[in-house]
Amino acid sequence: MVAVEDAGEDSQPATAGGPDARVASGAPRVLVVEDEQSIVAPFVHALARNGFDAVVAGTAADALKMARELAPEVVLLDLTLPDGDGRDVCRELRRESNVPIIMLTARGTQTDRIVGLELGADDYVVKPFAIDEVIARIRAVLRRYQQGSTVSDIVTVGELRVDRAPRRVWLGEDELSLARKEFDLLARLAVDGGHVVTREMLMSEVWDENWFGSTRRSTCTSRGCARKLGEDAAAPRHIHTVRGVGFRLAAAEESQP
Ligand code: CA
Repeated sequence: MVAVEDAGEDSQPATAGGPDARVASGAPRVLVVEDEQSIVAPFVHALARNGFDAVVAGTAADALKMARELAPEVVLLDLTLPDGDGRDVCRELRRESNVPIIMLTARGTQTDRIVGLELGADDYVVKPFAIDEVIARIRAVLRRYQQGSTVSDIVTVGELRVDRAPRRVWLGEDELSLARKEFDLLARLAVDGGHVVTREMLMSEVWDENWFGSTRRSTCTSRGCARKLGEDAAAPRHIHTVRGVGFRLAAAEESQP
């Protein structure tokens, strides 16, 4: 399938400007490895709109070739490609570089996701996905990589410090005792510090990947978490509720004196 070649100007490999022009423009390059044109086309436009330089590979062979030649900052990798399995591409990419990889997986194939993460993928999204969600994930992996792997598990917002690996949270000098889901929710918000995480994203990621229905549990857990952080509902310092949408952790700079 060669449909990717019709993906429009946005998908052109940016050879004319070269890597230096890209650094100057500040647009992180995202390699989208997907053969389904119905997914690729809107996606490439959304990426461009959000300040990314999107390039598209429609086959496993092209994916490896373009990853080597274009040095993308992030790879979005579909698992089912016309000439091979995305997992093999993931394995191969990982052997060659540390580029962050986000897998696009089909609904309900938990094994695929686990295998993908074991192969070295950084994250995954489940089809059908909201483009905004994928863009939030891209930003999150970029942030984690830019921070460097040694500190990426620790997020500090004002007095609040969340250390994801040992699952510990401090407020100033005091270590807080959060329930399991309260920690999971806070840690998820911390991944996208400053950006809103929707109730639906929290429900599917913190609770159950096959979740559908009420988002009430995310609200209750968020409230419990906020209570333990001593948040003033009228003037929260750390966990902000975005009405009708979800929650966000304050960005680090919001809490600077
Ligand atoms: Ca596909």
